[in-house]
Amino acid sequence: MRKRIIAGNWKMYKSLEEAKSFANEVKDKVPFTERVEAVICPPALYLSELVQVTKGSALGIGAQTMHDAKEGAFTGEISPAMLVGIGAGYVVLGHSERRQYFNETDASVNKKVHAAFEYQLTPIVCVGESLEDRESGKTVDLVAGQVKKAFEGISPELAAKAVIAYEPIWAIGTGKTATAQDANEVCGAIRTTIGELYTENVADEIRIQYGGSVKPDNIEELLTMEHIDGALVGGASLEPASFLKLIEAGAHE
Ligand code: 13P
Repeated sequence: MRKRIIAGNWKMYKSLEEAKSFANEVKDKVPFTERVEAVICPPALYLSELVQVTKGSALGIGAQTMHDAKEGAFTGEISPAMLVGIGAGYVVLGHSERRQYFNETDASVNKKVHAAFEYQLTPIVCVGESLEDRESGKTVDLVAGQVKKAFEGISPELAAKAVIAYEPIWAIGTGKTATAQDANEVCGAIRTTIGELYTENVADEIRIQYGGSVKPDNIEELLTMEHIDGALVGGASLEPASFLKLIEAGAHE
């Protein structure tokens, strides 16, 4: 059985004090279990501090983006080597907000997926369609295309360790969730694409999250779906009680 993964993407929210207080409150309440892995992706400035605060707990820490180079003259950027150096374990790549506002492309996401694996970071690779794409029936083709490009040149052994987050852009921060059935259909299509690119085994192993207005009151139904192995959560990951409810849902059978 695939271990679920529930990750909080904090985006550009919280002061350092708020971030530390969240981590202190939550870290010992996250269970060590084979059923679910819990991760928080805070603003990059707080990564180091939160890695320290959560040491020895079951709460993992990840970045929201990174550059693909080890080092270089890239003002303002953070490298995979730096993330590993401070003890981060995950990195979100190709989030739709990065694609929309910061020129991230399928090609740059692919480079970053390579870099993440080179530095033993678990990539959470985001894909998803706009409302216009959905309404014109392009969802599956578009998402499959994003997956193919993101995994270009990645070996089957590494691909199996990746996490893919299916986040329909129209469901992010809007309160509109895809129905569990619609989300499952696209996650299933992603798994089929991975099966075509690699093998059935890789498709069976890879974990696929749904993201977009996931809340404590809709996560349970999403998690009953065959192809949904967890969630990438924005707004509902910002409060300890709400985040813990999501993890609790993930820890159920
Ligand atoms: P919301 O859960 O706030 O809709 O955000 C989803 C998201 O973008 C997570 O990466």
